[in-house]
Amino acid sequence: MTTGRRGWIRDLVLAAEHMLWGSLVAVYRKCGKPTCHCATGEKHGPVWYLSQHAQGRTHMRFVPPEHLDAVRRGVEAFQQYRELGHQVAATNLERVLGPQRRRRSKR
Ligand SMILES: [Zn+2]
Repeated sequence: MTTGRRGWIRDLVLAAEHMLWGSLVAVYRKCGKPTCHCATGEKHGPVWYLSQHAQGRTHMRFVPPEHLDAVRRGVEAFQQYRELGHQVAATNLERVLGPQRRRRSKR
């Protein structure tokens, strides 16, 4: 983990370049043919979707296999971006309001 404001900004920019919002969901399904192996056994799949939940609705965006790795990296980049954002926000809060006072039990 890099330290210092400059390091954070660089990491944030790097993450922002690739980040994608949502979570990857694997879908397995039956094709409907009664003679197919999926009717009784293993279903087809996985087929991948990027699931985006906002304002009470879930939007599923199909992810072609050739883009799965990029989407997976993008989702990880977004998580990193969010974690970095929390760290920067915590540091900014200390700058604005001063250091967090310690609880009495720790004194
Ligand atoms: Zn089938």
